[in-house]
Amino acid sequence: ADPLHIVGGGMAGAEAAWQAAQAGLDVVIHEMRPQTGTFAHRTDRLAEMVCSNSFRSDDDEQNAVGLLHWEMRAAGGLIMAMADENRLPAGGALAVDRDRFAEAVTARLLDHPKISLDRAEITSFPADGRWIFATGPLTSDALGQAIRAETGAEALAFFDAIAPIVHADSVDLTRAWFQSRYDKGETEEERTAYLNCPMDRDQYDAFIDALLAAEKTEFHEGETAGYFDGCLPIEVMAERGRETLRHGPMKPVGLTNPHAPDIKPHAVVQLRRDNALGTLYNIVGFQTKMKYGAQTSVFRMIPGLENAMFARLGGIHRNTFLNSPTLLDAELRLRSRPHIRFAGQITGVEGYVESAAMGLLAGRLAAAEHRGRSLPPVPATTATGALVAHITGGADARTFQPMNVNFGLFPPVEGLRAGRRGRRDRYKAYTDRAKADWTAWLAHG
Ligand code: FAD
Repeated sequence: ADPLHIVGGGMAGAEAAWQAAQAGLDVVIHEMRPQTGTFAHRTDRLAEMVCSNSFRSDDDEQNAVGLLHWEMRAAGGLIMAMADENRLPAGGALAVDRDRFAEAVTARLLDHPKISLDRAEITSFPADGRWIFATGPLTSDALGQAIRAETGAEALAFFDAIAPIVHADSVDLTRAWFQSRYDKGETEEERTAYLNCPMDRDQYDAFIDALLAAEKTEFHEGETAGYFDGCLPIEVMAERGRETLRHGPMKPVGLTNPHAPDIKPHAVVQLRRDNALGTLYNIVGFQTKMKYGAQTSVFRMIPGLENAMFARLGGIHRNTFLNSPTLLDAELRLRSRPHIRFAGQITGVEGYVESAAMGLLAGRLAAAEHRGRSLPPVPATTATGALVAHITGGADARTFQPMNVNFGLFPPVEGLRAGRRGRRDRYKAYTDRAKADWTAWLAHG
């Protein structure tokens, strides 16, 4: 039988290969290293961790990434099994010895009777066969161009520009308010499209000072080569002039604060609804290279966000990713060429764990398809399902940016206390529900 071809032997490609081979498919992994390298990879091993050696929290009751670990373990995942074997003490986090981890993943794949490895760069889209592209945030230039030729230039980005995302229920609505500029929008969904946070002159000045003083991260060497084409970080806008933000993303026009209708705000920070559920809002135009610690303290200076809980913080990185909401179907297939799936970070998820999870899913779906079976959709109540539902449907295609797994992506559990105080119970309810639903889904094969 024809093999399943997997392009890229990173976190996602390694897991996809394992899942498909365990299901009985012949698999060929095409990996371009060591002939062609990236600015971040250092070795020729599969599943190389390019930066931190942590898979983040391993708490499967209170943390969405820990729940993703649990789901991958339940599915017999290779990345989790090898992480567990090479674990280092790190409190509640799952940290590993990166060399032994990657060596172990590589050895297990190469030892598998169903898997072979082709050390070659793939530079075009194949006309037939069954394929999974998992070439990651540093997809080679030639393949990036081929993908753009297929999808259109707008649909493949080479950099992300991530504005911080806040859990809606942590915004103080005694200070912030819902309103679209010039009151555009009539339906409930349009009415809640934007949240606004007002600033007076002193608050604005203090905010600009804090932005300018905050610690920033730098681009890696080689990271911007030939690419970075704008989308300024807010701190760079602030450096260009103290009033720049007030005339840009923080302009106070077309808005009336119902908490103080007679006072015209000096500046307004707008948050835009980030998912269909309305549980997440992003801070409009606030992509930034401030360090994470600095972001939390600077953004909590914004009136209404004093107690904000962040689903993810902002960033700008070299990151090749698709506009998945328009390009991919719910099974991660390219709508225009359904024999091609995508997996991993290139689908618009972010992080080792999320990328491996999308590989796991793509591998299982490809295996089922190969056997002429179709699996029911992954329940959106699971971490895997919530992520894939977000990138292929829930997220707004016009503003699509990469996403970490987080509980804001989950459909709410009814009848539980909202807000900060109900959080432990709510997260436990999410994870209990996810484990039951994931176990049931896996039983379908
Ligand atoms: P990768 O793991 O990058 O695997 C893609 C593979 O495809 C690579 O082996 C590459 O060589 C190969 N490839 C590319 N193009 C081709 C081609 N045309 N033909 C054949 N093979 C090809 N995530 C975290 O969770 N924590 C971090 O600390 C972290 N730090 C990061 C730092 C940097 C500088 C970068 C760029 C990313 C970082 N990430 C981090 C994100 C991380 O890279 C991804 O989450 C994860 O590795 C993505 O998995 P993947 O399988 O999608 O891609």
